[in-house]
Amino acid sequence: MKIFILTDLEGAAGCESFEQTRKGVNPSRKHEVMEQLTREVNACIEGILEVSPKAEIVTWDGHGSGGLLPDKVRGARCLTRENGGRPYYDLEGFSAMLFLGQHAMAGTFQAPLCHTYSSKEIMYYRLNDTFIGEFGCRTLVAGMQGIPVIFISGDDKAIREAQFLIPEIETVITKQGKGIEAAVHIDPEESCRLIRAGAARAVQRIGEFRPFREYSAPYTFEARYYRPFDLAHPKRQDPQLNFLDDRTYQITTNDLADLPF
Ligand SMILES: [Zn+2]
Repeated sequence: MKIFILTDLEGAAGCESFEQTRKGVNPSRKHEVMEQLTREVNACIEGILEVSPKAEIVTWDGHGSGGLLPDKVRGARCLTRENGGRPYYDLEGFSAMLFLGQHAMAGTFQAPLCHTYSSKEIMYYRLNDTFIGEFGCRTLVAGMQGIPVIFISGDDKAIREAQFLIPEIETVITKQGKGIEAAVHIDPEESCRLIRAGAARAVQRIGEFRPFREYSAPYTFEARYYRPFDLAHPKRQDPQLNFLDDRTYQITTNDLADLPF
């Protein structure tokens, strides 16, 4: 059995401020949460291997400025940001995908560090008229390849967002969100313990999950940015993009890979 783990940094226990997640603002504080995320990933791997000792596990660091310490990951092959690309578009042969360290989409009430791909630039993504965050985008990409998403850990709002799409998903709440940079966290070791047990339960239940395919082509995708694009911006020149105003564009396509997620 092959398992794909997609990681982000914001949802790790103890992470609640942008200085912990952005490059170069406070490197030692960022390193601390990267250590915690790596411990949570190792706990997840242990949980998977407990149920399926021969599982082949691949992790991918989904955090833009790097969130995982690959040298400290035990029991999985790590795809780093340097490998480039979007490896979750290439899931042939995998049995399931798991999310670790996830945050909610931009604009979610009291959701710590919530954003949609770029915390500084993107106000929202919509797909076929509904708001969608990173979890939804990547779960759909996996689902269209026939791969179910079986587990998520992160803040309580990220978990609810996941449950809208996959009510039966196994979950671990690492913190209760209290604001954009505020949360009440569980103990870091408890977080690892819960993730290990939750990942094991998810793999035990793997046969109960179906791939998420609840959006269908043609896809109408809309992105709104916080600031306007000036006329010279390459996006304004792209004939595929239909600008509704100076900061919002739409694209209609039958191929998810045309979309920026
Ligand atoms: Zn993210």
